[in-house]
Amino acid sequence: MQVFHLQLVLCLICVVSAEYKNYDGFKVLEVNYGNPRVKNYIQKLEEHLGFMPDFLGENWKQKQAHYFIDKDSVEKVKINLADNNITYHMRDVNPQIFKVRRRRDLNGAVSIHDVNTRYLSYDEQMKFLNSLAQQYPNDVKLQNIGNSYEGRSITAVRIADDGSSKPIVWIDAGIHAREWISYNVALYLIYTIVSQPAYRNLLDSVQLVVVPNTNPDGYEYSRTNDRMWRKTRSRFTNSRCAGADANRNYPFYWGTQGVSHSQCSEIFCGSRPQSEPEVLALTNAIIRDEERIKGYIALHSYGQEILYPWGHTQRTYPTDVQDLIQVGRAMASAIRAVNNTDYTVVNSGDGLYPAAGASDDWAKSRGIKYSYTIELSPIDDFTGFSLPEDRINQVCREAFQAIQVLMIEVKSKFGFKQMTSSTASSAQSTLLLNRLRTIGNRGFGRGR
Ligand SMILES: [Zn+2]
Repeated sequence: MQVFHLQLVLCLICVVSAEYKNYDGFKVLEVNYGNPRVKNYIQKLEEHLGFMPDFLGENWKQKQAHYFIDKDSVEKVKINLADNNITYHMRDVNPQIFKVRRRRDLNGAVSIHDVNTRYLSYDEQMKFLNSLAQQYPNDVKLQNIGNSYEGRSITAVRIADDGSSKPIVWIDAGIHAREWISYNVALYLIYTIVSQPAYRNLLDSVQLVVVPNTNPDGYEYSRTNDRMWRKTRSRFTNSRCAGADANRNYPFYWGTQGVSHSQCSEIFCGSRPQSEPEVLALTNAIIRDEERIKGYIALHSYGQEILYPWGHTQRTYPTDVQDLIQVGRAMASAIRAVNNTDYTVVNSGDGLYPAAGASDDWAKSRGIKYSYTIELSPIDDFTGFSLPEDRINQVCREAFQAIQVLMIEVKSKFGFKQMTSSTASSAQSTLLLNRLRTIGNRGFGRGR
């Protein structure tokens, strides 16, 4: 009888592990690129290796780039690094990364406590949004802007949409499925800004649109099948690979640099611009409101970076780049004020790799003045995309402060000014911003 039980338990374990992609033998490669010779090498890594490994992100403080190396390529990569006299560190994958996963949905309500303390399923995220829409019917309106490839709703949360023409700040999260913290940050933002009376004044002048899950298929797949999944879940005929990198699929310099045209690549840019239904839904929704959208942030992880356009090529900037840097630094200062966490403000393209077809470039090209990508915490590759759940709340609080700074800036630049009281509060906003505008750190960041 005991033997029977043991067999049953072993069988259950094998079923569970067979379902989740196994990364035994994979390695994380860390290369310090402070030396220009090494930087030059890693910028030509694809040429050196004959393939481009999965670039995870970087630690700009240590000038260290991180790659995920599949087990069949480990020896080849080691030999090439040695041949080129590159110092590196290669380590095992953190087993904790694969432990935060596949919790069952709760049957009951999903509360802000859940958002602050654990990663939610897509259904739980939707449950949370529906409860907010019921609780705050004037401030929270849910809008289906399209469906994912597998038919899940892509939901935009329109906050303080009173039918007026006030300016909009647009926030979207999680276009890269494995970057789990971004979803919680978006949900925390929605809850906090509508539940705290302190933000009423801001919402009277600025509308917020938040899309908390822009890639629901990929996210669910990363929860149930493959923790490292990044792309959408589009299927192709006669291909063993699925999905495109939706953040290479936007219609601006599409397919030119920092992308792959191979369906199996992590940075496959899709068969054409907006081939991904998620990107089509997002671009259509933004275009409908683009006259009013003055701020745009795409939430990603990891790396603690505030990135500004252009990212499709290097050393090329919008004419108002100084404004972008100034507000970016104010956002970094606001984050630092929470718990001393350092974010750097850096151009998207000037880091290690330019990347065409990203959402922030496209948003900027549509005339949205303040357009950014934020790479949330952590900065280290050991926790990487699996920020421990006990750190979720702090990252949410930090990002909230940054987003508030952007909203204040949009209010002061584009808000209604005809009334004396709002002119006065606009002046207050400017004062606050000036206090926040301190020199940010400069790094070589681009880990999206
Ligand atoms: Zn990303």
